[in-house]
Amino acid sequence: MILCADIGGSFIDFAVVHPDGRTEHRRSVPTPLDNAPAFIGALVALCAPWPDMPLHIAIAGVECPDTGIIHAANIPCLQALPLAAHLHRETGRAVRIANDADCFALAEAHFGIAKGHRNVFGVILGTGIGGGFVLDGRIVPGLGGVTGEWGHAPVVIPPPVPLDQEAAETLVPLFRCGCGISGCLDTIAGARALERLHLWAGGTPQTSRAIFEAWQTGDRQAGRTLDIWLSYMGAGLAHVINVTGSTIVPVAGGLSNAHALVDALDEAVRARILTTTSGPLLRRAALGADAGLLGAACLGLDIRAQE
Ligand SMILES: [Zn+2]
Repeated sequence: MILCADIGGSFIDFAVVHPDGRTEHRRSVPTPLDNAPAFIGALVALCAPWPDMPLHIAIAGVECPDTGIIHAANIPCLQALPLAAHLHRETGRAVRIANDADCFALAEAHFGIAKGHRNVFGVILGTGIGGGFVLDGRIVPGLGGVTGEWGHAPVVIPPPVPLDQEAAETLVPLFRCGCGISGCLDTIAGARALERLHLWAGGTPQTSRAIFEAWQTGDRQAGRTLDIWLSYMGAGLAHVINVTGSTIVPVAGGLSNAHALVDALDEAVRARILTTTSGPLLRRAALGADAGLLGAACLGLDIRAQE
């Protein structure tokens, strides 16, 4: 059995997970955001009944491989805290931490829709976009602890030469991204970004859900917005597929509930990659909200496999 926690900006979900993916002793407590001792105390209390077992954590943040410090924008109390080392000192137990998007991809590769695939790039389409890359059943560790962040690099770029006003008005605008760079795919990809894109393309203020519904009924303005969205997203994800060789792309997050959108994005991606496939690459993820916990459990299975 494996002790697991999935730490988000709202809740810490905890469970004891069996190697076959069954969970028990599930708990959920609010995440202490501004109080590091309370944060540590919450984790210590959740694990206390199992004093000698390692703890595996999926977190909405990135652990620096050199310092162990967690960078989690939504959990300010973790700033400058080497969480695994701190928990080890407090409890004596081994602690392993991974990014929650990486854990999602790992869980889908072990227990979910991507079971049996060697190259798996998992995609999260939510308020923003995220991803994780799993190769041969393991997370691929990246520079600075970062892998799979396909939403953050400029894809919308300023024109290389000055354009007249009429031509300039047809360009998708350069929006500033939360990561500090302008023109990231994330600035036009997530739910809020799509709503902003819809306004720029001449639409009225609407939720992403309403835009999808209008698109499916053949609304011309929504169709224009989705054409732009699919063009950028299809190109971005085609790059990812060509580089990672992924044979399946599990898709999770709020926008993945729009089935027709996932199908349309799959078509847009497959029209842009180098290889041809007989079936869809993008598949709706199978594990839902359990993916973080189950991915954390896979970290424990991996440790055992190495022993
Ligand atoms: Zn960015």
